[in-house]
Amino acid sequence: MTRKFEDKQLLVATHNKGKLEEISALLEPFGVSVVGAADMDLPEPVEDGKSFVENARIKAHAAAKATGLPALSDDSGIEIDALDGAPGVYTADWAETETGRDFVMAMTKAHDELVKSGAPQPWAARFCCTLVLAWPDGHDEVFPGVMPGKVVWPMRGNQGHGYDPIFVPEGYDVTFGEMDRWEKNRISHRADAFRKFVAGCFG
Ligand code: IMP
Repeated sequence: MTRKFEDKQLLVATHNKGKLEEISALLEPFGVSVVGAADMDLPEPVEDGKSFVENARIKAHAAAKATGLPALSDDSGIEIDALDGAPGVYTADWAETETGRDFVMAMTKAHDELVKSGAPQPWAARFCCTLVLAWPDGHDEVFPGVMPGKVVWPMRGNQGHGYDPIFVPEGYDVTFGEMDRWEKNRISHRADAFRKFVAGCFG
């Protein structure tokens, strides 16, 4: 049985302003006040887990322990079948450079690796998002979300972020990068995980 969220305040274990705003809006109807990790001066823990769940757990438990508040975290990325699930938990790392994140470089690397692998198209892939809600007593609940699809080349579209221009979700022929924001946010891996989180903890 999923533990219900019965507190008044939820800490969102992210330093990303966009994520914080998205989650605040989602939880507004439930009368929950949301605070971000940056507001509480929380350090960013080392994400050395081997899966999305492990990394999300690291972030949520560190934040809950440090503040005494229930804390929600998310970890996400893209898994490409022909690359044995890479980049997976290393999705953000593939974009890292000395001067910041470069997603054109990361997408080019994904394409180069696919060509090198000799795998025939379509290149099946999925975006994953795992949400973890952790309480200060050590209990947690896990909500995985997924959006299956395929990797395409060349990059298409300039909406969105990250790997959006090379990912075509199942049932569509446009990339996430070409898709209307509202539509992407309705069908995405993150939306899937959020629906499960709200149904589980507020249902
Ligand atoms: P995180 O913030 O540590 O979870 O890293 C997630 C990584 O996956 C980042 O590099 C994101 O750009 C990428 N990612 C996650 N969700 C999406 C998405 O919806 N579109 C494109 N890239 C995404």
